[in-house]
Amino acid sequence: MDLILNLMDGVSMPAVSNAWIDVYEPATGAVLARLPDSDERDVELAYLAADRALAGWKAMGREGRSNVLLRLAQLIEDDLEAFAQLESKDNGKPLALARKVDIPRAVANFRFFATAILHFPSEAHVMDDVAVNWTDRQPIGVVGCISPWNLPLYLFTWKIAPALAAGNCVVAKPSEVTPCTAHRLSTLCARAGMPSGVLNIVHGLGPKVGAAITAHPGIPAISFTGGTRTGAEIARVAAPMFKKLSLELGGKNPVLVFDDCDMEEALSTTVRSSFTNQGQICLCGSRILVHERIYARFRDAFVSRVEQLRVGDPTSPDSDLGAVVSRDHMEKVLSYIDLARTEGGKVLCGGTRVQLEGALSGGWYIAPTVIEGLGPQCRTNQEEIFGPVVTLQSFTSDEEAIALANSTPYGLAAVIWTTDLKRSHRVARAINAGIVWVNCWMVRDLRTPFGGMKQSGVGREGGVDALRFFTEAKNICIKL
Ligand code: NDP
Repeated sequence: MDLILNLMDGVSMPAVSNAWIDVYEPATGAVLARLPDSDERDVELAYLAADRALAGWKAMGREGRSNVLLRLAQLIEDDLEAFAQLESKDNGKPLALARKVDIPRAVANFRFFATAILHFPSEAHVMDDVAVNWTDRQPIGVVGCISPWNLPLYLFTWKIAPALAAGNCVVAKPSEVTPCTAHRLSTLCARAGMPSGVLNIVHGLGPKVGAAITAHPGIPAISFTGGTRTGAEIARVAAPMFKKLSLELGGKNPVLVFDDCDMEEALSTTVRSSFTNQGQICLCGSRILVHERIYARFRDAFVSRVEQLRVGDPTSPDSDLGAVVSRDHMEKVLSYIDLARTEGGKVLCGGTRVQLEGALSGGWYIAPTVIEGLGPQCRTNQEEIFGPVVTLQSFTSDEEAIALANSTPYGLAAVIWTTDLKRSHRVARAINAGIVWVNCWMVRDLRTPFGGMKQSGVGREGGVDALRFFTEAKNICIKL
């Protein structure tokens, strides 16, 4: 069994409490590793180490920091297979997905921000013959990064890479459910030339470690990705301390399928946008809205493709879906399927736990599930399920499609399927979501602003937005 350790001031160590928490392998339900049950004492030690490291990290300059992050990216890439296997084991996701998406994206996050910082501009505003203003952007100091379990290393590095590139030192908390790849990353930092204390990783429970980071008076900025309820709790604690907050929260993303769409592309991509990573991506489409003229044709073809998806051993190349992340999460998702039935929904396929055999018999698998017959206001269509479950609804006009798309408290992402250029512009602009894809899904350019509206979050990550978040802007006005 693996032992996960905190990274404190460049040293791997257990929690002050010396208490441990079990980490489970979703594919089998067996204990995979143990992680430190850290608390506010560990957060304080991490903070002190980060604070001590600040001046040296800043003094390395953009190029020095960039080189460290590029070396770290290379070390992860050299170790890609081991990282991918660990991510799949810890999270339950297909190994092929970890190899193709999760780990390459973690590498890309470091490379992207290592180079973006070299091109991060300061603005100047000249007042004719009066004065010149220039914007100085300094690192904030010690920042907190808290990440979820669905894309563990991918989202962990999406936060720490810009924070570090900008010259901050970090106290980071990965999800307690999936800590393994963050731990492996911690073993590479010194080899990449990162000075001790620049990145500190404190493992443990959200209400202990996450809450201590949020409440720490020396940590003035928090970048958080996770559920909306946790985001609200973080905002409640951080707001009176006037902390800078970036909150990437839940979603209930609509997929709008118009009757002029390319049906083949819409079908195949909607299968992916519904069930990739067992539906546990904040950007997955969970409400599929289809024009009534093509509703029956789309539904039948969609359900028949979903029925062909194979749920199985995450290490097998034949598995389209692996296990969901935990027993608790499986029970939550199954309870939503029961709720959908109670609300009058018809389960067209899936709807049950999948019981595999042998070593996998204790694993947490759910059949990809499609439900129809529910109105937009029922809980199934309003609340985030975050599993392999989608609903189908029909619409008769663009206006109705837009109204349905906007009918939840969330506003993270949306997908539009149409070949009408004017419609794609009009509908995309009318949807209240931070990210709209037209005739594609999950095409990501790391320079673009990333984030949600309404209860899907506050602030934007990515590109210049992330570097601005992790720096403090100061206007310096000089009389001419
Ligand atoms: P949670 O909100 O449960 O947890 C996210 C992180 O916050 C974890 O590290 C967790 O710790 C920690 N945490 C829990 N309680 C507190 C607290 N009181 N103070 C500070 N930190 C705390 O989310 P999940 O891990 O369940 O992730 C799934 C959610 O993430 C979904 O809602 C999904 O939509 C959202 N998400 C949003 C994305 C976006 O970009 N908008 C992207 C990906 C996911 P621990 O779990 O270790 O106890």
